[in-house]
Amino acid sequence: MCGIIGYLGPRPAAPVLLESLRRLEYRGYDSSGVVVLSGEGAPVAIKAAGKVQSLLDRIDGEQILGKVGMGHTRWATHGSPTFENAHPHSDCGGRFFVIHNGIIENFAELRAELQAGGHVFRSETDTEVLPHLIEEYYEGDLVLAARRALRRLRGAYAVVILSSTDPDTLIGARLNAPLVVGVGADEWFLSSDLAAIIPYTKRALVLGEGDMAVLSPVGPVVTSIADGSESVPRVVRVEWDVLQAERGGYPSFMAKEMHEQPAALENALRGRLLSDGRVEFADWDIDPEQLRRFQRVQIVGAGSAHYAGLLAKYAIEDLSRIPTAVEVASEWRYRPQTVGADTLTVAISQSGETADTLAAARRAQEQGSYVLAISNVVGSTLALEADAMVNLHAGPEICVVATKTFLNQVAVSLLLAMRLAQVRSTADPGDLRRLAGAMRSVADAQQRLLQAELEMQPLGAWLAQHRSILYIGRGYNYPVALEAALKLKEVSYLHAEAYPAGELKHGPIALLDPGVPVVAFATESATREKVRSNIQEVSARLSPILAVVTEGDSSLDGLATHLVQVPRVPEMVAPMVNVLVGQLLAYHAAMSQGLDVDRPRNLAKSVTVE
Ligand code: GLU
Repeated sequence: MCGIIGYLGPRPAAPVLLESLRRLEYRGYDSSGVVVLSGEGAPVAIKAAGKVQSLLDRIDGEQILGKVGMGHTRWATHGSPTFENAHPHSDCGGRFFVIHNGIIENFAELRAELQAGGHVFRSETDTEVLPHLIEEYYEGDLVLAARRALRRLRGAYAVVILSSTDPDTLIGARLNAPLVVGVGADEWFLSSDLAAIIPYTKRALVLGEGDMAVLSPVGPVVTSIADGSESVPRVVRVEWDVLQAERGGYPSFMAKEMHEQPAALENALRGRLLSDGRVEFADWDIDPEQLRRFQRVQIVGAGSAHYAGLLAKYAIEDLSRIPTAVEVASEWRYRPQTVGADTLTVAISQSGETADTLAAARRAQEQGSYVLAISNVVGSTLALEADAMVNLHAGPEICVVATKTFLNQVAVSLLLAMRLAQVRSTADPGDLRRLAGAMRSVADAQQRLLQAELEMQPLGAWLAQHRSILYIGRGYNYPVALEAALKLKEVSYLHAEAYPAGELKHGPIALLDPGVPVVAFATESATREKVRSNIQEVSARLSPILAVVTEGDSSLDGLATHLVQVPRVPEMVAPMVNVLVGQLLAYHAAMSQGLDVDRPRNLAKSVTVE
């Protein structure tokens, strides 16, 4: 979720690190820092809150000497984007330095244990446990201490470690987060991203899960963190330019971010969805008693966040029977307020700066309601003003239109619904356990769908040949239809509308003719038979039908013009799979017209005006 760069070689490290941080800024930009081991091995660390430019201003051309160093640009997950929380982090003695990308799930217990042993922490980050652990285990062998410390971590990390005890060594390690070793002429790089090292070398070693690379002037040695056995990493050679590398080789950020969704989802669930099916939010500290007292839920959001809110409503009402209202923030903020101390207000905003959602949250607070923010940006205005924030953990999203942040809004909404059901004992624990299992299976299902992306290309191009497209769905597939239609409008500029399938005959059916296709989300659900009847109605009006069905379902074979089969998952989690079809169709509809999907006309990433 952030940018990591490490350097060991014959050149001065600082210019390489600073230049690379600029290239990594798209991965995280709320604070940054570097540390370089000077000639004598003394570490020089410089950090700054804000963009990489703030770090450059702070350094102000000053020469930092040393040929081993590392740099980080942060996308906060634990603790605000402040100077204190910027990486690198170090131990009490100031010898061991760490930069980290990811989330250490068990940081709270490790921190408590280390504090009990006398370690003093200077930041709120999960990362800081690692340098203290290394300090704890260090008995003269840095590699052994690092390996022991890494073995204690659960969650996701790509880390780089350097120490004044071993001025010729740089250690990289990864688990559930990317890290590559760049191989130059007698110089080595560690980076979360090929984009950073491409100006220096196009040859890299890809570390495997749970691998650790020890770099020294004689080259890298890669071993397993678990047992120390040596492993042979895969060597890659890329011919990308810097821009292609930033996009991970994808033609656009939208494509890259759609493909990042299985990983983003795993990040949203990590440490929250426990193996016994229970849900805990480390970042939402609320007394279960208070959760039991809420009589109503009020959700506010705009655009895709509003649609994620609709899914939240369905899940909350299904699992805990708490009456839940969902409103577009720009409307709700001017309505007479009906919330109060008995209401849990949930404000959903990717950026945490959406003006209307912010205003709605403030009004709810004025009425005495507890406000929970669901956002992708720690330290955003909404996050700071709300009573609590649950982080989407989707990582930076560069494409203007939401893909992985929408997905994670849905995932976090389901977690919220499960948490409410669990504390209020409104759902059978067995059902919740099965639902948890289903949530965990979604990433695989998404992966399979993404692998079949080529099939979506002609379908997107086909949609783009029409003047207007209707999307329909029922139940959990209705918000999916809304989001899919919005994606199409946003990136392909085609006119699209979404309706609950049962609403079609109350008006929109008048639009149907052979020139108006209907995209029907008809995957397995409690109302599948009803959707099938609605599709019959469409077919009778000669509209071409693109039906999204569960694999193995042949009931629409003669009826639909095109079929997209998606992996079988339970209805409540199906939106997290089905929405990918909507995204891919929109993407390919836009690409077939040669449009810029990352920066669609008239749109902005963060809507800070009313
Ligand atoms: N969890 C770490 C933090 O909040 C790392 C975040 C990142 O990947 O940038 O500092």
